[in-house]
Amino acid sequence: MAASLFITSPALSAASVVHGFSLRAAGDLRSSGELSRLLQAAGLHTVVTAKQVHEDRVVGALRDGSQTELLAASEPLTSTVAAEGADAVVALGPEVAVGVFTADCVPVLLYAPDSGAVAAVHSGWRGARLSIAARGVRALQEATGADPKQVIAAIGPCIGACCYQVSPELVATFRNLFGADVADERRHLDLRLIVERTLRNALVENIEQVEGCTSCDTGSFFSYRRDQRNTGRQLSFVRSGSEAHVRTRLP
Ligand SMILES: [Zn+2]
Repeated sequence: MAASLFITSPALSAASVVHGFSLRAAGDLRSSGELSRLLQAAGLHTVVTAKQVHEDRVVGALRDGSQTELLAASEPLTSTVAAEGADAVVALGPEVAVGVFTADCVPVLLYAPDSGAVAAVHSGWRGARLSIAARGVRALQEATGADPKQVIAAIGPCIGACCYQVSPELVATFRNLFGADVADERRHLDLRLIVERTLRNALVENIEQVEGCTSCDTGSFFSYRRDQRNTGRQLSFVRSGSEAHVRTRLP
């Protein structure tokens, strides 16, 4: 039997949403061959991703794969590389799959049952500080009329608090923003908990933590930190429903 290429969220599966968080067995998803194999296994033809830059810009993905701005970066970006990037992608239209690449950062998949719309968010510590997951929810709300209280959010495998030791400065920053319990006395930061709090701040109530530490579980995941940067990427993907609608007037 072929090894499983991805895992799923019980909450999104119960809502019949096509989605997944890839496993190491799927290979490095930056490779087009590995990507096609994963998409085929998931029953998808294509997936729209963005050039991720650890900022907080949100783009919308159209059916033809083109992208449109939904929320500009909150701070002016000096680098043109960053200005072209985005860390959250909202599907604008029916049966559009969107995705994010990670290898320790937190992938978040959002589904709005009232509009059938979806979004994929990439949040490392920089994105978490900028509440990128909450901005993904806001963009979903503005573009599709989704009610955040009905949104289902699935937080996927990422580096766990077990493995993520950070500087005293970062611990102080995140404790100020999200509460004392987001780090322990060994300066281990709980990014999952922080992302969950950013989602709760955006009024999302239905949040599922899909378990897995990318650093501990060597067999299942690539880890940027553990593998000293020389590693592959996981892809987390989600497809909008066949009736998904948008209210944003598109250019
Ligand atoms: Zn761990």
